[in-house]
Formats: sequence, structure tokens, C-alpha cells
Amino acid sequence: MKILVADDDAVSRLLLQRMLRTTDFEVITAKDGLEAIQILSRDDGPRLVLLDWTMPGLSGLEVCRAIRGGLRKAYIYIALLTSKDSKEDLVAGLEAGADDYLTKPCHPEELLARLRTGLRILQLEDILIEAHEKMRKHAARDPLTQLLNRGAIFDVLAAKMSNRTIPAAQFSVMLCDLDHFKMINDTYGHAVGDEVLREVALRLKNNVRNGTVGRYGGEEFLLLLDGCGPEHLATVSTRICDAVRSLPVQTSVGPLYLTISCGALPFVQEMADRGPEAVVEEADRRLYQGKRNGRNQAVVAAADLVTA
Ligand code: GH3
Ligand code: MG
Ligand code: MG
Repeated sequence: MKILVADDDAVSRLLLQRMLRTTDFEVITAKDGLEAIQILSRDDGPRLVLLDWTMPGLSGLEVCRAIRGGLRKAYIYIALLTSKDSKEDLVAGLEAGADDYLTKPCHPEELLARLRTGLRILQLEDILIEAHEKMRKHAARDPLTQLLNRGAIFDVLAAKMSNRTIPAAQFSVMLCDLDHFKMINDTYGHAVGDEVLREVALRLKNNVRNGTVGRYGGEEFLLLLDGCGPEHLATVSTRICDAVRSLPVQTSVGPLYLTISCGALPFVQEMADRGPEAVVEEADRRLYQGKRNGRNQAVVAAADLVTA
């Protein structure tokens, strides 16, 4: 674990470095407040700092305030180390955002014990962040298929649409819906329906080489096809339909043949202002056309057919 020792006094810095030599801490030093801030604002900078109060330029207290003002996303544990030892100073230090307050000259054992407390706090923060990240990922997944759920795939689409790089990355949007899926549920039961959904999700995922697949609704899937422009969309759509219809789904009641209908369109920059809902609606209109035309097909809109 990296630790920053910020002190304008070279002897103090050396002394502290010596105290920490036999520990696992990797000591980095700063000789004033400004340098401390520069080091701490780096993404990979130390998260533990031993900070002198009186320094030229920026004082330790000002550094504390800068850190708490949001210098970096990660929590930085601050131990103020100072010769100021009045109760008023201690209160001012803690109120500026320090986590701990030590007075000079410091006792080596005490210093280490207090830094270990800091480490425990930082480890707790790591655990918390990890748990939060896990929860966030979990909340974005559909539990049955493990695909992104409706909210999450919409977020991905919205992010792609707001990408203003020139030229904008090309992609297409495809909405797929299983044909007569209700019949599977009605004939074989909901559990078999679930088996089918899981397998179809897997096939879609395996057939989208570049892009993202989400579960849009019950038996509807939203596909974002990266790098797929109008000239490829028909081929890709056929491949997706084939992936579902060419082989039966092996279920606990035996093999079942299924088909899907798809509606797709290449994204064009003029649609960016209309929001992701409008783009999916456009795909849905094509999908509906496919259903009306007898299902088991993809309806693909050419870019010039899409009205802004
Ligand atoms: P169409 O060809 O017009 O799309 O007909 P369909 O039967 O596929 O469509 P419909 O919308 O009538 O029925 C969809 C069915 O999907 C109804 C619903 O109970 C079922 N469904 C939705 N979510 C799930 C799920 O998570 N598991 C299972 N087993 N069934 C689901
Ligand atoms: Mg359906
Ligand atoms: Mg449906």
C-alpha cells in the first residue's frame, strides 16, 4: 500500500521514511502542500497520507479541504501530523477533514498502529465498492437469461446514440420476437418456455459477434449490432433468424422447432435527438410488419427509408 508523507522539513520526512522502512508501506514523499495535491490527484496515487500541518504555500489543512472537496473518487485516509497540540487545533484539523491527528514527535509504534487503522478503513471501503459493483451488475441482468435487462440495454443504446465522434460509430438496432411463443407455454408449460428463452438468448448472443444483446421483454430481445451498417444488415438479420430456426431447441420435453421475427434499422445520426425510445419504436414497426407478413422473417429498413 502506498503512503504519502507530506512534510516541508527534510529531517521529518527522512525520520518518517525510516520509521516506515520495515513495513509494507511504499513511501512517497512531497515537500509541500501543492506537490501533495498533485500526487494525490493521480488515479493511482496513494490513498493514505501522513500530512504535516504547517507547510509553505498550501498548508496541511488546505490540503485536507481540497481532498474532501472531491480531489479524487477514491477515499483518501488522512492522518495529520503536527506539533500543534491544543484541543482547538485538534478540532480544527478533524473539522477540515482529517481522519486522525498525531502530534510530533510521534511514537513509532503508535504511528504504525494508527496507520493500520487507516488501512482497515480503506479495506472496508474496497469491500463496499466491490459489493456495490456486484449489486449494480446484478441489477442490470435479467435473471433468466443473464442478458442485460430492458433498462440496461436502453442505457447502452442511449450511450451509443450520444456518441458525437465524427464519423459516428456505425451500428444497427434490431428487435426480435419469438413466433407463437405463447403456444409453447400453453402446450408444455412455463418451465419449458423458460428453457426455450434461455437457449434462444444464448443463440442470439453467440450470433452477435460485435455488439450487445438484451432481453427487452418477455420473449423479445433487443440487439445492438456494432459496426453493422445498412449494407450488412440484411445478411446479419438472416443469420440471426437462421440461428433460431435452423436447429431445434433441446428441451426436457424433446426438441422444439421455433422461429423468430425481427425488425431492424441502421442507426442514422439524424435520429440522435429523438431518443432511444423512438429508435426502438422504429424497429418495432418493422417487427410488426414481419409478424403481419407471416412471421419467420426479418424486416430491414434501409437508411434512406428512415424518416427523422
Ligand atoms: P407472436 O408470434 O405474435 O409474437 O405470438 P406470441 O405467442 O409469441 O406472443 P404473445 O405476446 O401472445 O405471448 C408471449 C408470451 O410470452 C406470453 C407470456 O406469458 C410469455 N412470457 C413472457 N415472459 C415469459 C417468461 O419469462 N417465461 C415464459 N415461460 N414465458 C414468458
Ligand atoms: Mg412473440
Ligand atoms: Mg411479444
